[in-house]
Amino acid sequence: MPASLALVGNLDAQEEADYLAALAAAMPGETVRPFRDLSEAERATVEVAIVANPDPAEVARLPRLAWIHSLWAGVERLVRDLGSDAPPIVRLVDPELARTMAEAVLAWTYYLQRDMPAYRRQQEAGLWRQRPYRAPAETQVGLLGLGALGTAAAGRLVGAGFPVAAWTRSPPAGGGPPGVAVATGPDGLTRLLGGSDVVVCLLPLTAETRGLLDAGRFAAMKRGAALLNVARGAIVDTGALLAALDAGHLDHAVLDVFETEPLPATSPLWRHPGVTVLPHITGPTNPGSAAAVVAGNLRRYRETGRIPAAVDRGRGY
Ligand code: NDP
Repeated sequence: MPASLALVGNLDAQEEADYLAALAAAMPGETVRPFRDLSEAERATVEVAIVANPDPAEVARLPRLAWIHSLWAGVERLVRDLGSDAPPIVRLVDPELARTMAEAVLAWTYYLQRDMPAYRRQQEAGLWRQRPYRAPAETQVGLLGLGALGTAAAGRLVGAGFPVAAWTRSPPAGGGPPGVAVATGPDGLTRLLGGSDVVVCLLPLTAETRGLLDAGRFAAMKRGAALLNVARGAIVDTGALLAALDAGHLDHAVLDVFETEPLPATSPLWRHPGVTVLPHITGPTNPGSAAAVVAGNLRRYRETGRIPAAVDRGRGY
């Protein structure tokens, strides 16, 4: 009988019930129980923890833990909180999450390409004015990050007729997705920013990407360009973004993620006419599809004893 699995996390009661039900349905041969329901003796048998914003002290109380499966795709907080001695962290790579994210990136890119923020402002001013049409083919998109989510977003954008360039850390094997020009390094980033009408951020938050989009990077962007940040808030220097918007250098920013969430009521982003605020909704984890991914990884582990590909702690993603 395999050792039981612990669900460790800071979920509300309904979310926890949904995840437990989805995990039970996806893994009928396994038992997943919330950390708080396990006795000390049972905790000592847990080999795999399934986590969502866990309390690091609880994770540390599972002495036989071989690896940790995150229910989220972004793991910067786990990497920071669990420290270098923690077992390997496997993050969520879920095709359904990638589909949802790609759909949202396409939707918000259309929103910017079709000038929706300007029409919203015109409506507020009672102004009837038709603005020039700019086709997808005339709207260059620059994707920062071409991982699981960036690649799916690139596919949807290319399919919709947007020219797409992407920036990654290392050149992708095989040159990257069809129709996507890939750049690397600081010069590659500057060129990509200077050539893009819409810059989409899908990078992980790491020591290298924290504050990456600063005053210099905004100055390198095209005049009138827009930013869509669906990755992590701390990648963007908010003060520099507001300055670039106020100066009229950037036209608009759609922000789904913020350094502090929920976004504080005092933040100037809430009321800035050049900003669309979203409450971190672009890529929600779906309990059913996430549970299927966890089940697949766990089944392979039970069969082979090999831990799935884990986060590189040095890189931070
Ligand atoms: P991946 O790890 O699959 O991809 C990360 C990409 O970023 C890779 O292309 C990687 O390059 C690139 N990258 C990382 N560091 C650098 C760097 N220093 N310079 C240049 N490129 C870099 O991540 P995902 O696509 O799965 O997810 C991306 C992020 O999206 C998550 O980390 C999370 O923060 C966020 N997210 C947001 C959600 C939301 O609801 N808003 C939902 C889910 C995730 P390389 O390929 O060379 O390694």
